[in-house]
Amino acid sequence: MTDRVLGYGQQHIGDDDVAAVVAALRGEFLTTGPAVQAFETAFARAVGARHAVACMNGTAALHLAALALDLKPGDCAIVPAVTFLATANAVRYVGAEPVFADVDANTALMSPEHLEAAIVRAPSPPKAVFPVHIGGPSCDMAGIAAVAARHGMTVVEDACHALGTTGDGAGMPFIAGDCRWSRMTVFSAHPVKMMTMGEGGVVTTNEAHTAKRLARLRNHGLVRDATDFTVREQAFAADESANPWYYEMDEVGFNYRASDLQCALGSSQLAKLDRFVERRRVLIRLYEEALRDAPVRGIEAETRNFGQRVGWHLFRIRVDFRALGCDRAAFMRRLLRRGVGSQVHYMPLYRHPYYARRWNRQGLPGAEAYYAGTLSLPLHCNMTDGDVGRVVAAIAEAAEPGPHA
Ligand SMILES: *Cc1c(COP(=O)(O)O)cnc(C)c1O
Repeated sequence: MTDRVLGYGQQHIGDDDVAAVVAALRGEFLTTGPAVQAFETAFARAVGARHAVACMNGTAALHLAALALDLKPGDCAIVPAVTFLATANAVRYVGAEPVFADVDANTALMSPEHLEAAIVRAPSPPKAVFPVHIGGPSCDMAGIAAVAARHGMTVVEDACHALGTTGDGAGMPFIAGDCRWSRMTVFSAHPVKMMTMGEGGVVTTNEAHTAKRLARLRNHGLVRDATDFTVREQAFAADESANPWYYEMDEVGFNYRASDLQCALGSSQLAKLDRFVERRRVLIRLYEEALRDAPVRGIEAETRNFGQRVGWHLFRIRVDFRALGCDRAAFMRRLLRRGVGSQVHYMPLYRHPYYARRWNRQGLPGAEAYYAGTLSLPLHCNMTDGDVGRVVAAIAEAAEPGPHA
């Protein structure tokens, strides 16, 4: 029993981050100030998109994207069965129904074929699809975009796990967030993610009108740009100048703004993105080497990268619990007794009572097989090389047959 438990994910905060937030605190604006714009500009540049709109968390970012798609009651949208709740919940927020697509039994990624199959099962022609780059590696976006185009569907990427992932899918280089194959891409800056704003989210897009709409929806739907005013007689004075107090609202939005404190932290963290990505890649390599040099029966690293330079959010193993003769709960408890936290990303969403009630629990074979054998182990930038050895030793012990204390 060690006192310190290594969690599966954790923020990495430096003195530079603390200084950046303190500077924002001492500044003139705590919200809607210059740190927001500065962060958005830096973020868009970092992922190769024309526009980035910051908001209070990744879930709000998904909701804003669903609103900007004009998804509404009666519509449906395809969501992979294995993702965080927020991806499907965002579809529900606008009254539309998610239709769950199956995923790969090893990677949990939705393929173009899974998408095709989900479209066939959908009660009506789906308007949109939300591919999720689970764990860090990107889905086959060229393939998914081709299927979506054939069916007249819009693509929104949930890249909350994939900030920093780059690759050359279908011979075309990409950066997760550049929206090469999508209308919008969504990110989270929750503390367990690649970089943090405490809480934070971003939507990227290459469309100026979509960026403008997202920015409005994040701020009550409020329009301040005089060129967009629609009710001339109350917007403008007799001399045609816009009334100084005036703003108008043409569709209902939310207060989903990110504060200057969050954005100051975001900019400071973003400046270290390459280092965060590289450190996680080193840790993944150390895990792979340790498990290659001393294989553990029934356990394999799930680190397929499809030729991408992955910004790894998760280090997952696939465990054959039947071969080990123990269930996942017992295995996780054995790890915890050795100071190693672990987590399951994720139970298929149709198993949650809310979604099970709506859809009579449709078991999808890939999602079920993935769920049965997945386990996420610690991966974050506070880890030392020695921590990797400690985790691998713990899983080797936990996998040993026979009675465990
Ligand atoms: C973290 C996460 C979200 C939601 O982000 P929050 O910032 O926690 O609201 C959405 N989708 C996925 C896949 C995530 O991992």
